[in-house]
Amino acid sequence: MNKKFFLLFIVLLILPLTTLSTVKNIILFIGDGMGTAAVDLSRMVLLGKEKFWDFENTRYIGLQKTYSENLLTTDSAAAATALSSGHKTSNGLLGTLSDATATKSILKAFREVGRSAGLITTVTVTHATPAGFCVSMPDRDELAIADEYAETKPFDLIMGGGRQYFVPKSSTASKRTDNLNLIKNFQNFGYTYISNTAQLFELTGKTPKIIGLFSESSMPNALDRNYLNTPVPTLAQMTRTALNVLSSNPKGFFLMVESGKIDFRAHANDTAGTVWEVNELNEAFKEALSFLKKDPDTLILVTADHETGGLTLLYPRLQLIKSQKATNELIVSLIKNKDINQSLKTVHELTGIKDIKEEEIKKIKESSTPEIELSKILNERYEVRWSTVGHTCANVNVYAFGKKAELFTGVYENTELAIKMFSAAGVSPN
Ligand SMILES: [Zn+2]
Repeated sequence: MNKKFFLLFIVLLILPLTTLSTVKNIILFIGDGMGTAAVDLSRMVLLGKEKFWDFENTRYIGLQKTYSENLLTTDSAAAATALSSGHKTSNGLLGTLSDATATKSILKAFREVGRSAGLITTVTVTHATPAGFCVSMPDRDELAIADEYAETKPFDLIMGGGRQYFVPKSSTASKRTDNLNLIKNFQNFGYTYISNTAQLFELTGKTPKIIGLFSESSMPNALDRNYLNTPVPTLAQMTRTALNVLSSNPKGFFLMVESGKIDFRAHANDTAGTVWEVNELNEAFKEALSFLKKDPDTLILVTADHETGGLTLLYPRLQLIKSQKATNELIVSLIKNKDINQSLKTVHELTGIKDIKEEEIKKIKESSTPEIELSKILNERYEVRWSTVGHTCANVNVYAFGKKAELFTGVYENTELAIKMFSAAGVSPN
């Protein structure tokens, strides 16, 4: 046999083995509340209508149906349970069925076989989406979830906001009713605790267990970061470190990365705020994409748990939206104690919209929901409509990259996404 044929023979021998084998690493991005219209609008505003988000640049695209067991419109708890375990459950339930049976999540399945697991979010680490991957609880009480984390240590790495649930009541800004220090508890079990960007950058891949709590409550909105100038990391910076740390396990890892504030901004119908949180997800996704180039034995998924806000795009005034310099949340907090004239000046400055009138500022100030009032005023100018301040039951997109990405095309239930992950990784859902 000459050399050429011998090589061909070897390739033909190996090929079926490689396609049959399973994926070592899974990186799952969840844009909380990220419907198709949010993806479209943010792309048009920040990149221009002809461009694409990096996470859109794949031919392996699917749609998942988001309804929960008891309601057409899901909450993040039931959705996280479906996405993590492959079981529909009722709204409000975390990693548990209506009959109180605990579900087994993809994260648990990874750890069972000695692979590592991590969770990252821009909201509190005890919020429904990360919690739905690692606890089994009948409600979304964040204090109880923090206690459960300390009790069971269900992850190797967790990063985000929510320090208030981990520090004793004697510390300022604690939400605890006792003097337990859960951070100390984690440290006693070998976790490295970090609380700012400098410490995040100091970590090497050799720190196996990490708890990173960068703010008391949720982390600042992406659009407000420059204005506030607080030393908190971006979702991309957390993702880069997490990938570094988790990939030190030769058996592989599961990492869930949540851009959690898409949902928060969409609940407030804050158009510019929402747009920048989708960008936050895309920036983090780019870190995963460069990791995939280094380790092709990796599957990356980008999806949402549900749509929030019922965003409708008419003739969106892209440049106007792009010129907003702070979220509606921050603007409202800045004008709270200012008189009408000062408030008008701040709103003009931070939105770039000069025709906002005194009566409109008065309306914001008199409203019991001032942020929604400001959203209404701005959205009229932006020619963007939101139909609800809650969730909707629309399907959401799934974008897949890397090994086994082809499994994720088509239209399917949110539970099916989990089943596909179990099968891609060769871990048991039972
Ligand atoms: Zn929500």
